[in-house]
Amino acid sequence: MFYQSTRDKSLKISSANAIVSGISRDGGLYVPDEIPALTEEEIIFLGGLSYPERAEAVFSKYLTDFTPEEIKNCVLSAYSSGSFETKNVMELKEIAPGENILELWHGPTCAFKDMALQILPHLLTTSVRKTGISKKVCILVATSGDTGKAALEGFKDAPGTCILVFYPENGVSAMQKLQMITQEGENVGVCAIKGNFDDAQTGVKKIFTDPEVAEKLSEKGIMFSSANSINWGRLAPQIVYYVSSYAQLVKEGKIKVGDEINVCVPTGNFGNILAAYYAKTMGIPIKKLICASNSNNVLTDFLKTGVYDRNRKFYTTISPSMDILISSNLERLLYHLSGRDDEYIKKIYSDLSKTGRFEVSDGIKSRLSELFSAGFCTEEETKATISETFDKYGYTIDPHTAVAVGVYNKYTEETGDKTPCVIASTASPYKFPAAVLESLGDKTAYKDEFEMADALYKKSGLKIPAALASLKSKKPRFTESVEKEEMLSAVYRMLQ
Ligand SMILES: *Cc1c(COP(=O)(O)O)cnc(C)c1O
Repeated sequence: MFYQSTRDKSLKISSANAIVSGISRDGGLYVPDEIPALTEEEIIFLGGLSYPERAEAVFSKYLTDFTPEEIKNCVLSAYSSGSFETKNVMELKEIAPGENILELWHGPTCAFKDMALQILPHLLTTSVRKTGISKKVCILVATSGDTGKAALEGFKDAPGTCILVFYPENGVSAMQKLQMITQEGENVGVCAIKGNFDDAQTGVKKIFTDPEVAEKLSEKGIMFSSANSINWGRLAPQIVYYVSSYAQLVKEGKIKVGDEINVCVPTGNFGNILAAYYAKTMGIPIKKLICASNSNNVLTDFLKTGVYDRNRKFYTTISPSMDILISSNLERLLYHLSGRDDEYIKKIYSDLSKTGRFEVSDGIKSRLSELFSAGFCTEEETKATISETFDKYGYTIDPHTAVAVGVYNKYTEETGDKTPCVIASTASPYKFPAAVLESLGDKTAYKDEFEMADALYKKSGLKIPAALASLKSKKPRFTESVEKEEMLSAVYRMLQ
């Protein structure tokens, strides 16, 4: 299998090369040149396997240039080394008949980003070795809060790598910020920018694709790569948990193989829900992909009208990891839905960068409405969903998961569709204790995040993740903050 750029399909490279490069030089994203299939027999077989084994099976279909041993080593280092708090890596909890919450936040940073970022460093260092590159790989990350910390944890002290993270100064939760500025490791750097996530992402993309920068670094024996979900090595691991969820529901007898499910995903950069689309294309019978947004509802409008328009007010919400107006991975979906028309993708993305807007063809619009349903939650609706879910089921959810549950509730009310559903739960409520407590009606003025966590524990009985509790005793290491125009000089400074 080869990987091609969404903006130039004549470019064909191995998965190892795609993972090392992150993004294509033409600004496009790498996608597999064919999407592998899963048979019903395979799905039944996967149900009897552990999570790492299921991951091995899925990777072997996408990373065809890796040896079975290489895949096995990556998978075991990521998922069987004790860094996840549950043995199963992910947990499926049925809170109401047919309503399954897919908990993806049992990793070391308590967000679903760990599912991919615990394995990406292993995939990347293996890829570097395979491609014979002798340069040091510098990972540049723009984060809306969770990717940064998950990437820092994944790459800290990984041989032959270093990692630099940019986050929006006022766009992450207090707990997320603490997690990043106290990061340990000899090869890490963290810097705030005066701007929002889109500014950080645009800045990083620009640095990546600037040939002058590449040359300067090359002289120093350094090359850039990406840990954002524009990297195929981030997406492949996310396909695994949708396949795994379906196989598990079959194994537990909750559905029969071949039965349809719906999947509902709280969406920002469109990586997580795109992974569900790949799972569907592989043969997992997903009826509707339900795309849930917060007040930054650019995707809701797009999926309903076919017009993508980022010229709108940007909101800072209680689900900060979804405060995004440019959803990078949408480009991959549109590439597939356009019949791999690279010229077309180049044109609409040039429209987007010139005018902040594009409109897709009628053919794509009708495909979108077959595949997707879309909705959003306001801040009030998100808080109400946290409170209702707690009252009804005694189950505590974070604000991102609440956006998904809220949109799912609206979907079932509007359509009456009671197909069993998997709802992606993307963060531990302890990452956002202030918003969760407020939603649950607790108006106490707590001293800090740790008092809040204790209060939330008393209320919910949910165990406080050890990784968050331990932040209390850690000293801040990274306090630098720069203008968005100064990101490149910050990179050079951090590389010294
Ligand atoms: C990153 C993130 C999201 C959004 O995922 P995308 O892949 O960017 O769509 C949702 N919730 C949480 C908690 C996240 O960290």
